[in-house]
Amino acid sequence: MTALPLVFDAPKRGLPPRHLADLSAEGRREAVAALGEKPFRAAQLSNHYFGRLTVDPDAMTDIPAATRAALVADLMPPLFTEIRSVACDDGTTRKTLLKAHDGTLVESVLMRYPDRATLCISSQAGCGMACPFCATGQGGLQRNLSTAEIVDQVRRGAAAMRDGELPGGPGRLSNIVFMGMGEPLANYKRVIEAVHRICDPAPDGLGISQRSVTVSTVGLVPAIRKMTEEGLHVRLAVSLHTPDDELRNTLVPVNTRWDVAEVLEAARGYADKTGRRVSIEYALIRDINDQGWRADMLGKKLRKYLGPLVHVNLIPLNPTPGSKWDASPKPVEREFVRRVEAQGVTCTVRDTRGQEIAAACGQLAAEG
Ligand code: SAH
Repeated sequence: MTALPLVFDAPKRGLPPRHLADLSAEGRREAVAALGEKPFRAAQLSNHYFGRLTVDPDAMTDIPAATRAALVADLMPPLFTEIRSVACDDGTTRKTLLKAHDGTLVESVLMRYPDRATLCISSQAGCGMACPFCATGQGGLQRNLSTAEIVDQVRRGAAAMRDGELPGGPGRLSNIVFMGMGEPLANYKRVIEAVHRICDPAPDGLGISQRSVTVSTVGLVPAIRKMTEEGLHVRLAVSLHTPDDELRNTLVPVNTRWDVAEVLEAARGYADKTGRRVSIEYALIRDINDQGWRADMLGKKLRKYLGPLVHVNLIPLNPTPGSKWDASPKPVEREFVRRVEAQGVTCTVRDTRGQEIAAACGQLAAEG
């Protein structure tokens, strides 16, 4: 596999010092040994971080104080301070603003449903993909997040659920979506490492099932192909937004590099390899991409390229600052769903949770 083009290789500037959560179990043992400590200390530390979800040295009473101080200083540099959390939907949606060691701001969103809890996490600070309807895209890319910065969002979300911080009492964080800020496949290596840390069974990782993790992409074809070879079972979501190249070139500018056909072929490769249905994300924008003929074309193309291994997720456009676009009227939305399904492709409409706290899809701008 060739290296990803340089244009997607965001600067390393600002990445935090290496952290326990950047390392595999093997890497953690080596790091502990390099400090002159017994390798089993790595398992103890991992148990605190991944198992008990804590970074508080005072809680690590199974490690002698002096050793603990040395281990924590080397392997658990502070990653984030929490700036604030805001909630809506009766407290069941909560957006958290985190500040990284270099002042970079990152957001994640926790959503509790009757049967599950989903955390939407960021893979980059900002985003370089420049989709005109997305607030994150309007701000540009600041930097990649480190593996540990990605994982730590999940650790915090899992602790919040365990501690019953959202209404409904203590619960379990069950699902992760890489649908916050950033293009995950433009930070490929760190995102794949993060998936391992998130999904490895505790205490080596946070123990969330790969099948409950979704990686969403604008369609970076070489990276989709590479991910196909990783042997993962995560769900792939593709932000398509229209089935035709002419409009997609403007809605998702990277389409000028890899067009709809190439993206759908790569998605098919992933679906075939994993047996998992690909999610097609489609933000429905009034009078832009919501025409009946486009729904027909979408259904036909998806049948052709993906057969039964596809599902369409319509996202009513969430408002973003300064955008002239808005969501399609409900009857147009219903007709769109009907016409996609008439082609034999399942199609559902995503809820617009978090809209009033700017926590919904495409609204994350991490303003301090
Ligand atoms: N960069 C990745 C991950 C972000 S996921 C990707 O694009 O897939 C965020 C999802 O919300 C994407 O499908 C994105 O296209 C969509 N989105 C962005 N802005 C939106 C808006 N204003 N309303 C609804 N969905 C939006």
